[in-house]
Amino acid sequence: MIAVSDPGQDDRPAGAGTAGLETPAVRPPVVELRDLWRTFPADPPVHALRDVDLRIHEGDYVSVVGPSGSGKSTLLNILGCLDRPTAGLHLLDGMDVASLSEDQRAAVRGRRIGFVFQSFHLLAHRSVAENVMLAEIYTHPGQPRDGRRARAEAALARVGLSHRAGFLPTRLSGGERQRVAIARALVGEPRMLLCDEPTGNLDSRTTGSILELFDELRADGLTLVVITHDDHVSVRAASTVRLADGMVVS
Ligand code: ADP
Ligand code: MG
Repeated sequence: MIAVSDPGQDDRPAGAGTAGLETPAVRPPVVELRDLWRTFPADPPVHALRDVDLRIHEGDYVSVVGPSGSGKSTLLNILGCLDRPTAGLHLLDGMDVASLSEDQRAAVRGRRIGFVFQSFHLLAHRSVAENVMLAEIYTHPGQPRDGRRARAEAALARVGLSHRAGFLPTRLSGGERQRVAIARALVGEPRMLLCDEPTGNLDSRTTGSILELFDELRADGLTLVVITHDDHVSVRAASTVRLADGMVVS
């Protein structure tokens, strides 16, 4: 085995986080779903997710594909603590989040998770900067007001939109609007970004630039889960979860 030299780090205790000693197999997953079901009451009941097992590790880039109605959005809602499983286990950082109260789940969501949707859900009469600032009121209600603008500006810089901070969303292109929505998801400094068809309303060139942004975010260490119909999106991800009829088929 070839040892990777690591100059300047020799004074660490033996075995402390050396890349060569940690393999994904021993790293605990950020997310683990075990024997998970989500059944909606109806006659007959709708089994939107059936017996799903899934592990997502820190820094993973996972795409979720499958036909319409196969359970993709249901899965994302559960991963985002917006919905609870009917049966089975949902662990986030080893914590059984399905058993937490709504307030506790909202706190977990605010600290760890950002959401991006196909339709950008921006407030039309607020500037780009205000749209990002207002998100923080929901994700981090306790944050001091001062600094809010600076944090919004930092999030906009991260998505390459500093020069649009004062614009109204109606003056932006589709790709720029999605960047604002991504900045809004990033302002709470989540560790995981959950995206439901984020390029579904964008042309192929704009899709490419959003995918480059995802690559950058992943390089920064963010964990990404992206639902998509688009092969261009799924090939960029490191792994793909394929759903059919509520089951993971590959
Ligand atoms: P996808 O995102 O892959 O298109 P969804 O997760 O939205 O699929 O839906 C999976 C299945 O669950 C579909 O049959 C859908 O009709 C059903 N479903 C989703 N949400 C509800 C709900 N709130 N009540 C009843 N059925 C639902
Ligand atoms: Mg869906």
